[in-house]
Amino acid sequence: MIQLEGTITALSPLHLGSGRSKGTFIPTLPYIPGRTLRGMAGYYLFKNDRELFNDIGIDEENDISKMGIIFKNSYPVNNDKRSVFSPSSVEWCKKCGNLLKKGETECDAIVDGMPCLNEGKKFSGLMDFDSHVNKKLSTISGHFISIETKCPITRNGHTSMPENSALSPYHVESIGSGAKFRFRLLVKDEFADRIKEAFDRAGIFYGIGGFRSRGYGNVKFEFKESHDVEALIEKRAGVLSGAGSKLLVANSDMVIREGDYSIVGFDEHFLEYAQSTLESLGKNGIIKYSEPVEAKVSEGTARGWSLKQKNSLSEIIRCIGAGSCVRISGDGEAMAVLETFGIGEMINCGYGDVYFTGDAV
Ligand SMILES: [Zn+2]
Repeated sequence: MIQLEGTITALSPLHLGSGRSKGTFIPTLPYIPGRTLRGMAGYYLFKNDRELFNDIGIDEENDISKMGIIFKNSYPVNNDKRSVFSPSSVEWCKKCGNLLKKGETECDAIVDGMPCLNEGKKFSGLMDFDSHVNKKLSTISGHFISIETKCPITRNGHTSMPENSALSPYHVESIGSGAKFRFRLLVKDEFADRIKEAFDRAGIFYGIGGFRSRGYGNVKFEFKESHDVEALIEKRAGVLSGAGSKLLVANSDMVIREGDYSIVGFDEHFLEYAQSTLESLGKNGIIKYSEPVEAKVSEGTARGWSLKQKNSLSEIIRCIGAGSCVRISGDGEAMAVLETFGIGEMINCGYGDVYFTGDAV
């Protein structure tokens, strides 16, 4: 497979529904879910290239060996820097943003010649990846969020509707045009050129997200890099190898199930899923929990979208939330493979994305 990377630029406001409205307020997600891109590509291919739609395995959600394409979530880009979910186990100084060392309750940064000494607090959400490198929290800024009120119009005029009417005013939150996101998708080599072409066209002609008939959702895809996945894994394995444990951070919601039961936590089922990802890709490495097990888990919600059922919502699953983390040891190559592909179910829709950091957090 090859990994295609690039940027998505909003050409009009974007509304990325979470499926959850609050009364008449309809919030947007701050990122573009992989399932949204899959829906766009699936719809485009179904209409315009049925052969590729059938061949690429876009419907396959559980068996990696049958997936010809894997869509990842696209997170905001700030000055060309990528963003990731902050691990929920760490605390950042509430005054200066400095990363608090493990076990410390006061910030030891020197600010204007004096120790800062402020308390730490957790941050959940997207941050610049460089926050890990610089040990200082830097959050996403620059994306303009706005709220637009829509009043449905009837043929009979503009009188206000009763409060509970389906035609009462509603308020759409959106991300402003000009916003940029980094995308990453994995695709079988032989399909790469046709997929690029499909994305170019679908972004303009179909768009993404909600309220497209009202002018939202037009995007431009720019493909900037293309890498052989095996070469990427080898390079990243070199970085992740070596002594010491790593913090595994869920970089999107993650679905781990036993039968129909979804598990919100890190137990043996999580390791089994990780192992099955490795095995279905023909890799031998392993990962295991560092002892004693250190984990922080939050709850997220995954949404299954069935392309077979006209891209409609097919199920809602409580799951391991983005930002959940656990300390891991194992082979660098195994970690690199899991970072590339993900862990759990529906990894082709952006779920189960993980990254590893070796920082002393
Ligand atoms: Zn501080």
